[in-house]
Order: sequence, then C-alpha cells, then structure tokens
Amino acid sequence: MKRRGMLIVLSGPSGVGKGTVRKAIFDQGANEFEYSISMTTRKPREGEVDGEDYFFVSKEEFEDRIKNGGMLEYAQYVDNYYGTPLKYVNETLDSGKDVFLEIEVNGAKQVREKMPDGVFLFLTPPDLMELKQRIINRGTEDMATIDKRMKKAVEEIKTMRDYDYAVVNDDINVAVEEIKTIIRGEHLRVTRV
Ligand code: 5GP
Repeated sequence: MKRRGMLIVLSGPSGVGKGTVRKAIFDQGANEFEYSISMTTRKPREGEVDGEDYFFVSKEEFEDRIKNGGMLEYAQYVDNYYGTPLKYVNETLDSGKDVFLEIEVNGAKQVREKMPDGVFLFLTPPDLMELKQRIINRGTEDMATIDKRMKKAVEEIKTMRDYDYAVVNDDINVAVEEIKTIIRGEHLRVTRV
C-alpha cells in the first residue's frame, strides 16, 4: 500500500512572516510537498489572485462549507473567516504527497486534534516590537487593525508549547532552511505518534 503523505502545519502570530516564509519555500521549487490554498471571506489585497493566494468567497458560501463538513479547520480572524478545504488535503495525502498548511493558531489547534500525526511548526518573531514594525511596514492595515492584530499576537505566542518545533524568523533564509531540515528529519522518523 502507498504511504500516506505527511501533513506539515506552519503557524504562528500574524505578521511574523508565515506567508513570506511559505512563499520562499515554494519559490525555491519545493515540489516535494503541495500547498493547500486556503479559503477566506477577506477581500483580496492589491496583487492577490483568486485561486492562487486564497479562494476568495462570500460569508454565505463559507458558512455553507462549514455546515456541509467541507472544512478541515476554520477560524474567525479579525472579522473574517479563514479555513482549509478538507477534500484537497485528504486527496493529496492519500495520493502519497505531503501537504503544507500555513494557518493561524486556532486553526492549527483544530488540525492537531483531527490529524495528530502531522508535523506542527511554530514560527516566532525575535521580539514583539519588531512584529509590530513588520505589520506597519506591510502598509496594508490601518492602526486600529494593527492594534487588534498585536493583541492577538501576544495571545498566540502563548500557544507555542503545543507545537513540535519552534522556528525563529529573524533571518528568513535561516528560517526556510530550518523548516526544510525539520521536514527532511521527519521523513527519516521510524515511528510516528
Ligand atoms: P492575512 O489576512 O494576513 O492573509 O491572514 C491572516 C491570518 O490568517 C494569517 O495568520 C494567516 O496565516 C491565517 N490564515 C490563512 N489561511 C488560513 C486558513 O486556512 N486557516 C486558518 N485558520 N488561518 C489561516
């Protein structure tokens, strides 16, 4: 029988650079695992493409998906829904390929309960002031939203102990290498819990 793929979950506070790290991993031609595109009710930002960055849907459509059991996990994050469509993840894992999720911490917690044999990585900022500066520099949010995101970040960092690995995002190249090393190591594991 074919080996089922491994689920890799990258989480951590908003603004820590999960998206940038994930893009760097895939831009380097990481074809050993598949990225699961999330669904969201948030409006696309400048330059974001539907079906590439996210599947952008209405609130009604998202809630229908939840009702029909179509989401592996979902969370309400700063007034919008974000979630992982279940079908793609299951089909890809069944085909023997690894799947990579980049999601916020409440979603990661749900995945941990449903798929405990996944590998859970927590990306952490070197310090909180730097996190705030990164969110400000991104320039896509107003101050009220930045404050909301910062409050969340402090809560989110407390959940780090629920993960298998913590990776500090100080130098992005180092973070990317560390994540790849962890994944390589996980493939050599003899037993999985
Ligand atoms: P943003 O609006 O900046 O694109 O994303 C906000 C937060 O939602 C980020 O922390 C991002 O990682 C997270 N996120 C993106 N996709 C998903 C998802 O499918 N599920 C969950 N739970 N969080 C997600």
